[in-house]
Amino acid sequence: MVRVYLHDITKIFGKNVVALDRVELEVKSGEFMVVMGPSGHGKTTLLRIVAGLEEPTDGEVWIGDILVASPRRGIFIPPKDRNIGMVFQNWALYPHMKVFDNIAFPLKLKGIPKGEVEKKVRGIAEVLGITETLDRYPRQLSGGQQQRVAIARALVKEPHVLLMDEPFSNLDTRIRVMARAFVKDIQRKLGITTILVTHDPADALTLADRIAVLRRGAIQQIGPPNEVYDRPTNVFVANFIGEVNLVDGVIIGKGNEAYFDGGGIKIQLPPNSNAINAQNVILGIRPEDVLLSRETLSDNDLLYAGKGIVEISEFAGGKFNVMVKLQSTEVKAVSSVSFGIGEIVNVYFNARKIKVFDKK
Ligand code: ADP
Ligand code: MG
Repeated sequence: MVRVYLHDITKIFGKNVVALDRVELEVKSGEFMVVMGPSGHGKTTLLRIVAGLEEPTDGEVWIGDILVASPRRGIFIPPKDRNIGMVFQNWALYPHMKVFDNIAFPLKLKGIPKGEVEKKVRGIAEVLGITETLDRYPRQLSGGQQQRVAIARALVKEPHVLLMDEPFSNLDTRIRVMARAFVKDIQRKLGITTILVTHDPADALTLADRIAVLRRGAIQQIGPPNEVYDRPTNVFVANFIGEVNLVDGVIIGKGNEAYFDGGGIKIQLPPNSNAINAQNVILGIRPEDVLLSRETLSDNDLLYAGKGIVEISEFAGGKFNVMVKLQSTEVKAVSSVSFGIGEIVNVYFNARKIKVFDKK
């Protein structure tokens, strides 16, 4: 397998639509990289640049040891010579062709002899568990099966790199979970270097070896799922990858005696908190990292945030989503026990999970 390296990639459409802004991204050989970001923030453009369907305005694209695009050096290797498989967002199956011919299409384009085509198509269909559909038309398949056909067509040439553009967006929630597990399994089995782009954090958290977060064409953070989730580099990333309570405030004091003060909440911060030397900050805490208790708790990992009044408590299957009014701040919490509306509770934040962002 090969690595994919985007070096300082900028893509400008027309005069001033900056779709990608100096993107630096290395996908290691065999790695599953998920690029995540809101709609319109450059995800498809990034994939198309790797595939060669789009030329970067500036920067370099490397696939393995080969420089496949560099405007400065006048280098541009076309898609057919890049050895890449791509699964498009709408799967782009040919409706008038049977599944067999859909999968065989890239091989026929390459002029591969019929016997070998037959062997390769049957081989990959076996891997993807769609052998029994080879004789049908795409419209005769379920969404999940159509997706597998699209993946089979991308993989049949035995590409070095697999690119997937929001592959689950056409599937309903129930099937999506299975489809994700399936894609992860195939990727592992084949060990193929993969870049998947999505706006859905659940895709990123479940599939990725590492996640790259894009905002307006610029990479915000690259890291393993737990790191991006627990230690997001900014409010945008924190908010995009999951729910988070955000409180505006200031830092008072220094080092071991640093406090966050804002929204009526004053808490002592762990000395290793981010942005502890900043002045104006935003405190972030995820609902599952907020602990509500009738009793007073003492635990080094818990920061006491004050007494709150329960405003909402909703049963959410095995847990409760609770909204607590804490001074002038509303804090969302996930609780394993139920509280009554109007009940006064002690509110604690998990010290290991608290995030402090420099407001600048
Ligand atoms: P995403 O896949 O994250 O939704 P895209 O990569 O499709 O985002 O688009 C990023 C930005 O580039 C958007 O502002 C989009 O309108 C613009 N864009 C994408 N393709 C073109 C194009 N062919 N011509 C002009 N603008 C484009
Ligand atoms: Mg897109």
